[in-house]
Amino acid sequence: MRIAVVGTGYVGLVSGTCFAELGHDVVCVDKDRAKIALLAGGDIPIHEPGLRELVARNAEAGRLGFTTDLGAAVERAEAVILAVGTPSLPNGEADLTHLEGAVREIASAMNAYKLIMTKSTVPVGTNARLRALLASLTDRPFDIVSVPEFLREGSAVKDTFHPDRIVVGADREEAGAAAAALHRPLTDRIFVTDVRSAEMIKYASNAFLATKISFINEIANICEKVGADVGQVAAGMGLDNRIGSSFLKAGIGYGGSCFPKDTRALIQIAGNVDYEFKLLKSVVDVNRDQRFSVVRKLRRLYGDLAGRTIAVWGLAFKPNTDDVRESPAVDIVAALLDLGAHVRACDPIALPNFRSCHDHERIAWCGDALEAAQGADAVCLLTEWPEFAAVDLGRLRQAMRQPVLIDGRNQFDAERLEGAGFAYSSIGRPALN
Ligand code: NAD
Repeated sequence: MRIAVVGTGYVGLVSGTCFAELGHDVVCVDKDRAKIALLAGGDIPIHEPGLRELVARNAEAGRLGFTTDLGAAVERAEAVILAVGTPSLPNGEADLTHLEGAVREIASAMNAYKLIMTKSTVPVGTNARLRALLASLTDRPFDIVSVPEFLREGSAVKDTFHPDRIVVGADREEAGAAAAALHRPLTDRIFVTDVRSAEMIKYASNAFLATKISFINEIANICEKVGADVGQVAAGMGLDNRIGSSFLKAGIGYGGSCFPKDTRALIQIAGNVDYEFKLLKSVVDVNRDQRFSVVRKLRRLYGDLAGRTIAVWGLAFKPNTDDVRESPAVDIVAALLDLGAHVRACDPIALPNFRSCHDHERIAWCGDALEAAQGADAVCLLTEWPEFAAVDLGRLRQAMRQPVLIDGRNQFDAERLEGAGFAYSSIGRPALN
């Protein structure tokens, strides 16, 4: 099939490349000229394990191309995948201007029937609005099908080739069948439903996962006070098949480009129909507060942080990605700076992205964990990169002014840290806090 992918970000680039690997003829479109020039020159704008090789192989085989010319890409395509961003507006609602802009451009390139699949995360009713918009601009036939995307950054290639399920929302059976057929080589678990339910499945799934995270974080906060260990609690809970063990890791909460914006958007979607989603509002509040637990622990230890030097290990919102959008590190570093601390920051790959948006005269940008710890009054581990847990504790102890480690992701064994002479504090493991 000839496919045009509109929006070449995490979702568009990975799914476009994946369809090329399956043998389709794919052109990825983006209005960001620098991004397309990079890709056309054989470089990759994002860090995603396995992606570079896959892009190179398919580009070389002539199955994967990159362009800024949306019209030309859509004209030659039988199917169009919409994967542009839907960021938050100030009130929390999803901003659909990129999507509407893309549809307007598609309208001018409609030369024959197109199967349009929306992978962008969109509020319930959006695909119906897009259909009406496109129908008002062209007489050519088309279908708009909702195929929400569930890939996770950091394992996007793996998730795309081995999804838990594909959801296809279609209001016309043939269109649903065509979208399902395109995805069938990836999995047999294809759930075909109506468009509105498909749109809702995406938000409900992310909201539920966010709820699990905030739930275990509140349990962790209580564990600290009552003398239980949240790691043990989560392990015991997870053995119950009704609960499951995933997304029960206590820490400083979720971040990234999806959970924060999608939870906010679902609260707004509910609010727009006069329903107050109280549970989800609390999930968001708990998550916002949880990231500052690291700062509270530092303040309990030192009182005033003015003039203190704090090493920050990890800037990405999770390991294996260079994405810093809504990363807990953004708020934690800002809070430390507000309190007058000096920050020594490191991250294996996300440092340039973080620095480009959050530079400050009191941040020293460091090449690795030990360099960041040099002369520090405390280390705060914010992202669970494996290299942080593997650091040589003897050298770390020597590098620091005070041997204090605040572990926001429960990466270290407390006894080992205390044995090495550290004052160690983690999330929800009270005996050692
Ligand atoms: P992104 O910001 O990485 O990429 C979006 C791209 O779209 C940008 O490169 C932008 O330049 C381009 N774009 C915007 N308007 C355009 C237009 N008119 N024509 C061509 N290109 C245009 O976004 P992303 O992280 O890939 O997310 C895309 C969508 O998928 C969002 O709705 C998001 O919620 C959803 N999603 C993301 C993830 C994830 O992990 N990132 C997972 C599941 C779903």
